[in-house]
Amino acid sequence: DMARYRQCGYLRYQPQIEQAIAERYSLLSQLRLALNEDQLFLELQPKVQMTDGSLVGFEALVRWRHPEGKIIRPDQFIPLAEMSGLIGRLDHKVLRMTLDAIKALHQAGIRVPVAFNASGIELVRPLFFETLQQTIQESGVDPCWLELEITESQAVQEYDLITPNLNRLIQMGMQISIDDFGTGYSSLTHLAELEATTLKIDKSFVQQMGVSEYGDELVTVIIRLASRFGYKIIAEGVETQAQRDQLLALGCPLGQGYLFARPMPLADALVWSESYLVKGRESR
Ligand code: C2E
Ligand code: MG
Ligand code: MG
Ligand code: MG
Repeated sequence: DMARYRQCGYLRYQPQIEQAIAERYSLLSQLRLALNEDQLFLELQPKVQMTDGSLVGFEALVRWRHPEGKIIRPDQFIPLAEMSGLIGRLDHKVLRMTLDAIKALHQAGIRVPVAFNASGIELVRPLFFETLQQTIQESGVDPCWLELEITESQAVQEYDLITPNLNRLIQMGMQISIDDFGTGYSSLTHLAELEATTLKIDKSFVQQMGVSEYGDELVTVIIRLASRFGYKIIAEGVETQAQRDQLLALGCPLGQGYLFARPMPLADALVWSESYLVKGRESR
């Protein structure tokens, strides 16, 4: 249609565009309500040691239980929240729910770090660090149980503004993971100096292993770079035994993916961890 626009100087009226805009607008006002009415909840996905499948941590992923009954995935509302300025309240809510999940896990005797995802937009906000620190303090949870995941593209986009904040979080004892690693741009420029403890290999790379021509080599290079610069490394989106075996052979011991466990509500995560703890006790 842009070609037509250039040719004729006008755009054809497209009712479906108007409808799409109306739908997004209505979803946005529903999201505003959702934040007030506790329609958001977390699912937890285990991170495991791939040699024996033992639990090393969780990632908290937000979901929206829409009043009409369907569960909406974050890809459908996080961008909307970022565009509209609702993301600050959303991220804060996710942080508090993550701290609650940590407390519930501790009560069940499960002591592993839990990661939450935050939008890069929030990390450049002037009072980001102070607000976060206060929320953590009020919860009584030791920051060493908390991990922040920020995507590579967001971490390098506002690099100068975000880096000092990430550094303060690390000083506080928190872990920082660079999410979707390998899909951002300035990765090589900033790789040596990222304020992060862990790199997460994006699932698109994991899924190219053994499939596309350079798939294996790309993963090999990422793993080498990570260890060269002293980062821990974990692979996301591990779905098959073959991917697990190959990652282990390449020197990546940690993984996350449907092969081990899907994201699940807290109650299920407690049961899953309990059986893991029993397994661990039996093998000791
Ligand atoms: P992400 O942080 O990279 O999370 C990984 C996504 O991959 C999750 O999708 C997860 O359910 C999915 N996944 C896990 N294992 C597998 C697997 O083996 N195969 C495949 N194909 N997929 C797998 P989800 O939950 O839909 O989240 C999508 C993205 O939304 C996340 O990507 C993250 O960037 C964002 N997000 C999720 N929760 C939050 C949040 O609380 N706040 C913010 N700001 N962003 C969030
Ligand atoms: Mg993540
Ligand atoms: Mg990820
Ligand atoms: Mg990802």
